[in-house]
This record gives sequence, C-alpha cells and structure tokens, in this order.
Amino acid sequence: MLVIGLTGGIGSGKTTVANLFAQLDIPIIDTDVIAREVTQPGQPALAEIEKHFGADILQADGTLNRGKLRDIIFNHVNERHWLENLLHPRIRKSMEAQIQALTSPYCIAVIPLLLEVEFYSMVNRILVVDASQQAQVERVMQRDKVSHSQVESILKNQASRQDRVARAHDVITNDGRIEDLTEQVEALNKKYLALASKST
Ligand code: ADP
Repeated sequence: MLVIGLTGGIGSGKTTVANLFAQLDIPIIDTDVIAREVTQPGQPALAEIEKHFGADILQADGTLNRGKLRDIIFNHVNERHWLENLLHPRIRKSMEAQIQALTSPYCIAVIPLLLEVEFYSMVNRILVVDASQQAQVERVMQRDKVSHSQVESILKNQASRQDRVARAHDVITNDGRIEDLTEQVEALNKKYLALASKST
C-alpha cells in the first residue's frame, strides 16, 4: 500500500485537499480524528491524562477539556512531550490497523505534525500543502474565530514553510481559489495511481 503523508501548516488547506482526494474515492486516514478517538471516555489514554493532569482536565460530562489541554501543552514543552509519548504510539497503531484493512491502490494519511514528529517511517511520500502566511492567518481567524496574534503564535511553533517544502516529494500550492485545487489534486491522483501500480 502506497501511503501519502499529507501535511502543511495550520490553515494551509490540508482538510480541504483531503476532501478532494476523498471525492476521488481515495481513503483518508486522519491523525487528528484518531487522536480524538483514543482520548474518548473509556479509553486508557484518557485515564492516563486524568491521572497526570488531575480531574480538572475533564469537563463535567467526563470528556476531555481539549482547550485546557491545548493551553497547557502550548505553554509547557515537557507536558507536550509527555502527551506525545502517550498518544503517538496509540495513533501509530491505529493508523497501521487502518492501512492494513485498506484495499485501494493508495491512501492519504493527514498528519499535521509530520515534520515535527517522527511519523516518517509510516509514509512513502510527503505531500505538502503550501500557502502564504497571510492566507493561513486569514483563514484560521475566520474558521476558528481567533485573533491575529493567536494564529501567529501557533505558526511560530510549527515548522516553517521552507522546511516543509524542502522535505516534500510533492507540493500543492493553495494561494488562489479553492477551485484551483481540483486540478492539482487530479494530477497528483494520476501520479499516485501510476506509482502504486508500479510498486505492486
Ligand atoms: P487545515 O486543515 O490545513 O488547517 P483547512 O483545509 O481547514 O486547513 O482550511 C482552513 C480554512 O480555510 C477552511 O475554512 C477552508 O474552507 C478555507 N480555505 C482553504 N483553502 C482556501 C482557499 N484557497 N481560499 C479560501 N478559503 C480557503
């Protein structure tokens, strides 16, 4: 199975691009979705998080207070590492199981932190969605109703555009209209299908 790791900064358009691949019947594995699944009530990871951060990390209904957790790990690098050590092996395991179950020629794995975190070994190629910082800031402000400075501080903690593009096998540029993405996705789909047929 050819696994394409799709990455890019916040607001670059990863989800939008993944949806376009999904429209072409390509399966999408999304590590954000898996991260939420493994921290649902009843999952061992949530019990570990509660033990480590205290009961205050949960909301009244017993679900994880994601905003609070995000604030903590954003401000304390040690806590971020602790959480990564807890979640990443579980995320990898779930990804592996999902990939195993697929029968398509290739799949797209959306991994926002592909460059920051060691997920390389799980993908065959890296596809980066690249957008100008200005476009990223405007989109995230609108989508998440956050301030300019909040987006900028998130961006500061992520890999730079240059680093990402330097590591990419393929790049989708998302500085124009959403409609402009379709053609780029269709071209890559053809390329990936050809690569997948060669590797089997
Ligand atoms: P990511 O998953 O990388 O954070 P999204 O795909 O969610 O980014 O895109 C961020 C927001 O910007 C979404 O609301 C999306 O609809 C919008 N968006 C994405 N690409 C474009 C574009 N080319 N023009 C205008 N809005 C866009």
